[in-house]
Amino acid sequence: MNRTTEDCQAPCVTLVGAGPGDPELLTLKAIKAIRRATVLLVDDLVGDGVLRYARRSARIIHVGKRGGCQSTPQAFIHRLMVAQARQGQRVVRLKGGDPFVFGRGGEECDALRQAGVQVTVVPGITAGIAAPAAVGIPVTDRRCAPGVAFVTGHAQPGGGGADWAALARSGLTLVVYMGVSAVGHIVQQLLEGGLAASTPAAVISAAHTPRQRQLRCTLATLAAELHTSGLASPAILVIGEVAALGAADIDAAVPGSLLGVG
Ligand code: SAH
Repeated sequence: MNRTTEDCQAPCVTLVGAGPGDPELLTLKAIKAIRRATVLLVDDLVGDGVLRYARRSARIIHVGKRGGCQSTPQAFIHRLMVAQARQGQRVVRLKGGDPFVFGRGGEECDALRQAGVQVTVVPGITAGIAAPAAVGIPVTDRRCAPGVAFVTGHAQPGGGGADWAALARSGLTLVVYMGVSAVGHIVQQLLEGGLAASTPAAVISAAHTPRQRQLRCTLATLAAELHTSGLASPAILVIGEVAALGAADIDAAVPGSLLGVG
C-alpha cells in the first residue's frame, strides 16, 4: 500500500481523491496519477476543472448519478476497473474528496485485490474538512470541542445509521455528510438526545466551487432555515459550538484559475 503510483505493477488501479471541487485543492500526487492515466472512472462530485489534467487520449468514463439518473451499480464499476486493468490500462478511479471517507473506496479495494489487481491510494481533502474551512470554521477548536465526528446522514438501506443520541452527549463537533434530506430527523434525534436547541449550526453547500453558499443558525432552526434557504446537496452540516466561529459573511469561493504545476 505504500507503493507510489509509478511502481504499481499491472494490473493496477489507483484510487485518487480529487478534493472538494477546486482543482487547486488536488495534491501533486493526484495530478501526477491523473496525467498518467489512460482510463479514468469519474464520480459525480469531481470538479470539471480536475479533468483538465487528463491526457487528451485518455478514456473518461462518468460513473456517477448525474442529472438524477441511477448511479452506475457498484458491481459494474468493480468489473470495469478489473477488466481495464487486466488489459494493461493505467486506471485511475477518481473520487470526490477522499476515497476512503464515505466514498466506497474500501469496497473497491477489496474487490480489486480479490481479482488479483494491485491498488494504490492517493488521499484527498475530504469535504468534512474542506467545507468548514472554506468559511473559517475550525472543527476541533480546543476552546469548543475535544474532537470531531464525521457522520453520514444517509442510513444504509436496512441499517440503523448513526446513534444520534450518543453523538448528542459526546461533546464532539458533528460534521454530517449527505445530511440535507434527513435534516429534520437528525435535528429531532439530537434534541431528544439532549443537545441544546441553542447549539450553533452551519451548512456549507458546494464548498470550494463558484456556487458555494453558507447558512448559520442554531440546532432549533436548522431544518426550517435550511429548507427556506434553498441550499442544496452537496452540503456539509456542522453542529457544535465551533459553528459560531469563522466568517459568516463569506460566500462564493474563488476557485483557482491556476496553475502551472510542473
Ligand atoms: N468522499 C467524499 C464524500 C462523498 S459523500 C469526501 O471525502 O468528501 C458525498 C457527500 O460529501 C455530499 O452529500 C456532501 O455531504 C459532501 N460533499 C462533497 N463535496 C462537497 C462540497 N464541495 N461541498 C459540500 N459538501 C460536499
